[in-house]
Amino acid sequence: MGFMAADSSAAPGSLETVRGFVNTRDVESSVEALSTAGALQGWLHEASLLDVGAEARPVDLQRARALREALRSAMAANHSATSLPAEALAVFNDVAQRADLSLRITADLRWAMRPRAGGIDRALGSLLVLVTDAISDGTWRRLKVCLNDTCQWAFYDQSRARSGKWCSMQVCGNRAKQQAWRARNEKAGGGPMQV
Ligand SMILES: [Zn+2]
Repeated sequence: MGFMAADSSAAPGSLETVRGFVNTRDVESSVEALSTAGALQGWLHEASLLDVGAEARPVDLQRARALREALRSAMAANHSATSLPAEALAVFNDVAQRADLSLRITADLRWAMRPRAGGIDRALGSLLVLVTDAISDGTWRRLKVCLNDTCQWAFYDQSRARSGKWCSMQVCGNRAKQQAWRARNEKAGGGPMQV
């Protein structure tokens, strides 16, 4: 239901690129924006993550989708205080290795990671760097996917208590409430007027 929740659920700064990447697969409507290697190339280019002339191969598309789903499961884990899921961790570290991330410390006591690899490996590595930046500045834990299993839309949790569960209270939040109401009712054995 992302089209309805787009503005209120946007992540700050370049973390929004990560959210957009995860939402290239719309679970609810089964729309796959990264349907071909060419589509991946186009998306990365639009996001300014791809060097001019870099081309995506079918294997790059596989790796990009694996990274996307690893991000989705890591963002699902952000609802609770658990650690990163093992499969996601393996994918992240594979992407980091392929991108050949290198660390640079600057005079003003900051540090930056840069991928040394080229092509799609570099682009996927750059996405991962955006994630590590967000982990460092504390915004990562607010990037979540909707708890409604049929939705799973990526959203940024703006709530003060960091307790947001759904992409949109108006849509998935109400849906969950109605389901809970129905379940309670069925347990009670029928109509709402039972005493
Ligand atoms: Zn939702």
